[in-house]
Amino acid sequence: MKKRDFLRVSSTVAVGSMVLPLISCGKEEKAAEGVAKAVSEAGFELPDLPYNFDALAPAIDEETMKIHHGKHHAGYVRKLNAALNEAKDLKADSLEGLLMEIGPEDTALRNNGGGHYNHSLFWKIMSPNGGGQPTGDLADAIKSDFGSFAAFRDEFTAAAGLFGSGWAWLCVKDDGKLMVTSTPNQDNPLMKNIVDETAQPILGLDVWEHAYYLNYQNRRGDYIEKFFSLIDWNSVEKNMKAAG
Ligand code: MN
Repeated sequence: MKKRDFLRVSSTVAVGSMVLPLISCGKEEKAAEGVAKAVSEAGFELPDLPYNFDALAPAIDEETMKIHHGKHHAGYVRKLNAALNEAKDLKADSLEGLLMEIGPEDTALRNNGGGHYNHSLFWKIMSPNGGGQPTGDLADAIKSDFGSFAAFRDEFTAAAGLFGSGWAWLCVKDDGKLMVTSTPNQDNPLMKNIVDETAQPILGLDVWEHAYYLNYQNRRGDYIEKFFSLIDWNSVEKNMKAAG
């Protein structure tokens, strides 16, 4: 097997195994089929949403979800696969490894590898049954590292107000503590050659205008507030525990 083929297959497996435990009840069988199909084909594949396109309305409307998933995310996957065809020297054997390896000059892999990873996480940490506040170990960690849920929420909301397009993140740092940060464009906290402090993202919010403009126009603050009614805290807690 050529190295590039190995990278593709391994990457797909790694993404599948990362995402699978976060699928909500009743979707396991469908997700397993998706992973098997992806492994049998070259390159990364657009993951299905774990809910219907209209499931997050009215916080996020159906048309926005269809365009965001079927056009924007699909475009990142397509361009990532095209960029991998041109990448000769990559050593990474997973999508996470790819993000950790690339540098600022790897424009296509940076934008589209980040775009694929970021959106794959974003869909999983929202749910039509989301909202409220975390419980259990995640609630304890937020209280310990931010002082209170309200303080965390304020910090995250401020991060999501970054100028221009980008993402707000809740991450687990190397020392195990939680951190809020933001990245521009499709950058990701795993990009150690690009960000100031590397960390494992466990919750992400897309604040590109394409994520909210149809419904909210210029009112990004209203979109951020509604996003909190969608957060699947069980999913975020699983991500925290997987981050170790
Ligand atoms: Mn987006």
